[in-house]
Amino acid sequence: MQIGSYQVELIDAGRYKLDGGAMFGVVPRNLWEKENPPDEKNRITMSLNTLLLIRDGRIILVDTGVGAKFSEKYQQIYAVDYSEHSLLKSLATKNIQPEDVTDVIITHLHFDHVGGATYYDEEGKLKLRFPNADHYIQKRQLDWAQKRFPKDRASYLVENIDPLLHSNQLRILDGAHVLETGLELILSEGHTVAQQMVRVSGLQQNLLYAADMIPMSAHIPVPWVMAYDLYPVITIQEKEEHLKKAVEQEWMIFFEHDPHVHCGTIEQGDRGYQLKESIYL
Ligand SMILES: [Zn+2]
Repeated sequence: MQIGSYQVELIDAGRYKLDGGAMFGVVPRNLWEKENPPDEKNRITMSLNTLLLIRDGRIILVDTGVGAKFSEKYQQIYAVDYSEHSLLKSLATKNIQPEDVTDVIITHLHFDHVGGATYYDEEGKLKLRFPNADHYIQKRQLDWAQKRFPKDRASYLVENIDPLLHSNQLRILDGAHVLETGLELILSEGHTVAQQMVRVSGLQQNLLYAADMIPMSAHIPVPWVMAYDLYPVITIQEKEEHLKKAVEQEWMIFFEHDPHVHCGTIEQGDRGYQLKESIYL
């Protein structure tokens, strides 16, 4: 798909599972289980949909999935599945090698967004997966991750963060930021501190990579908020604000964790916001 001057591609970085109850917060299981059937451990299947933006030799990746650094135990806990798709396989299908990527936008430092930015080499050393790329993260997100607050410290793994910190390829931003014309980073504070969402805009089309503000199309209803969120009331306010704009300005919302729908337009139905058209990149 072309949006403005960007060629926009979905890079499928695999599947994993998280607890269905945690994904839907206070929403009763009987409302979400039909669309998201839980396994025997109450986990639901989710996608790691990352985004590739190409323009004038610049190759920009938004988020990187879980990566391949987990021990066997954690791979099983999260049911990480690269049998069909993985970050590197999907990039290769677009004829892109890790060395070609010029920019990596990391929405936030939870393991399922930043894990793929690093790997262990044959000697067990941590390396950047995209050795020639600038990596963008928000300062307040980085500070928060390093505080290791009990509610969400399990999502922040030192092996994901330290190699970036010790490289000279980390670009620490402090607030909303225009990377270039038509490519904007906007902040969301409900899911975690200073998550950066990505807006790609053209004359006719706009796409919002909503990251964990609206992780799946099932989270379009405004009160359907994850139990993982630090500030669910703020997530609700942010969803209202962005979904309103999505309806008025016909934005496409990109769903990072939806195993069925890549993106969609939004409409106002009798019972609130809903998916209008499913779009596959
Ligand atoms: Zn997250």
